[in-house]
Amino acid sequence: MPLKMFGKSQTLRNVIGIAAGKGGVGKSSLTVNLAYALQKLGYSVGILDADLYGPSIRRMLQEDSLPKQKEGRIVPAFSKGIPYISMSFFRSADKASCVRAPIANGLIGQFVRDVDWGSLDFLLIDFPPGTGDIQITLSQMANLTGALVITTPQKVAIDDVRKCIEMFDQVKIPLIGLVENMSYFQSKEGSEKNYLFGKDGGKELALERGIPLLGTIPIDPKIGQYLDAGESIFSSKEPVQGVFLEIGAALVSNLKEIKKSLRIVSLQLQDPFHFQIQWSDGLIHQYRFSDLQSKCPCAACIENPQVIENSVSAREVRNVGHYGIKIDFSSGCSHGIYGLDFLRELAK
Ligand SMILES: [Zn+2]
Repeated sequence: MPLKMFGKSQTLRNVIGIAAGKGGVGKSSLTVNLAYALQKLGYSVGILDADLYGPSIRRMLQEDSLPKQKEGRIVPAFSKGIPYISMSFFRSADKASCVRAPIANGLIGQFVRDVDWGSLDFLLIDFPPGTGDIQITLSQMANLTGALVITTPQKVAIDDVRKCIEMFDQVKIPLIGLVENMSYFQSKEGSEKNYLFGKDGGKELALERGIPLLGTIPIDPKIGQYLDAGESIFSSKEPVQGVFLEIGAALVSNLKEIKKSLRIVSLQLQDPFHFQIQWSDGLIHQYRFSDLQSKCPCAACIENPQVIENSVSAREVRNVGHYGIKIDFSSGCSHGIYGLDFLRELAK
């Protein structure tokens, strides 16, 4: 059986999760406007709408073509050059609230694995709101390069987004930054800013957690008008588009910093008994499956060490978040997670 290298990461250069602790803070509209901004900055961008419960991104993007099946893979829908896929293509809207965690995880896994995204600089994933199993599994399955969190200035929203930040810390997904939405209202350019929901909530949280504040988005009816019409704010001369360009540029520059840290660039099967890891600092090392299985860190293998044959192969090797890999051995265990530090140590 061939090895499935999860995520086809060689074609998705950056996979960014866009998350919020709660719904109604403008996560989907940020996802779409950020995609337009990155496109404007010259990058290729796709969108995976994984928010199974909220209003759909599909309403904000008017599709030029619908998704199709092709040779067992899903060709995404396209809107203004942006490939995107949404759960709303595959179920009726009224069933949304019935999607339970295992089903949701299966569907999301399929979207990440089976959608033919082609070659993209950025895949933006609109996360379902919350910090439960679905969000944790999604972070790991999608092999996120980093996450961006969005909040509104109110204390209740800040408390929820704090949980969201903690969740990403727990699964070791780097936080690229925080965006504050509905920050202020300004009747016209240059006039006084009214902080209707409180001032600097996002700024204070960013300081507290040591993550950059990428931008503050004003309350501007134009933002909603363009999205509701399925049009890009960049097709206009609305001044508010500058806010999204700033957020896009800040995202790109913070990602460069994050990428300087050590990580796995590619996983490749060499032959049935070996695979190779290429590290971000250029080091390439070959690992033998039997060697790794004999060092399986899971509780069962540690308590009952088995005799491992040299001919051990694997059904699947995949990234687990940013902290390691998981191997489904052809015979025996598939539970152990091999951390990056451990793998790096073996490569010495
Ligand atoms: Zn084990």
